[in-house]
Amino acid sequence: MASCTVTVPDLDASGDNLYGPRICSQDFVDWAWDAFDFDKGDWDGGFGYSSACDNTLPLSRTMSAIWCLSFSSPNLPRESYSSNILEWGGRFARNTIDELDARCGTSSCSPRSCSGTIAKTRSGGIFVDAWTRLYLPFFYNQGVSVRASTLIHEARHADGKGHNRGDNDSSWEYNGAWRWEVAWLSWFVGEGQNTSTAMREQARQEANNILNTNFETHPGFNI
Ligand SMILES: [Zn+2]
Repeated sequence: MASCTVTVPDLDASGDNLYGPRICSQDFVDWAWDAFDFDKGDWDGGFGYSSACDNTLPLSRTMSAIWCLSFSSPNLPRESYSSNILEWGGRFARNTIDELDARCGTSSCSPRSCSGTIAKTRSGGIFVDAWTRLYLPFFYNQGVSVRASTLIHEARHADGKGHNRGDNDSSWEYNGAWRWEVAWLSWFVGEGQNTSTAMREQARQEANNILNTNFETHPGFNI
């Protein structure tokens, strides 16, 4: 990551001190590595390949997002599609995201924050390699619960549904990635388990930011 050096924000505020120890197990890392098809070549060179427990590095911070996405429902271990997105979101993301890659991206980082593209997904097709790439703002500008919601957003893209108004969606009814992200966040606010008040509050704020800025027609409610 020599070319994308960052200042790591407060680890308590981002939730990385809460979730980091949970992902720091060979069993979990092996499971997530396989389920999301990580490759060494996309996570070495400073992204954390050889230090999965270092919660200042992108790999740990991504693993924490996967943990949060996978283990926040009160109904676990059930992951039924007849229930809400908090319950089945992890299953959906595992099944749709083809591979998760770390990149620096084109963002610029100040000591306080990084701005720019958070994540990008190419959904693939015949002769097209599918991938989801995660950039610096994903690792360092989002707390763990918001990172989890970004994964469900990208999973919706991986499933083939793009945005229809630039990087925004036309409406709630369009049922795009922004709606899915808001839905996951709002269920997390209401029912999220194994988390903290701070993580829930960040989720609520992110849901409202999205509702207020990423729909051409405002859905008409806030969380
Ligand atoms: Zn998107």
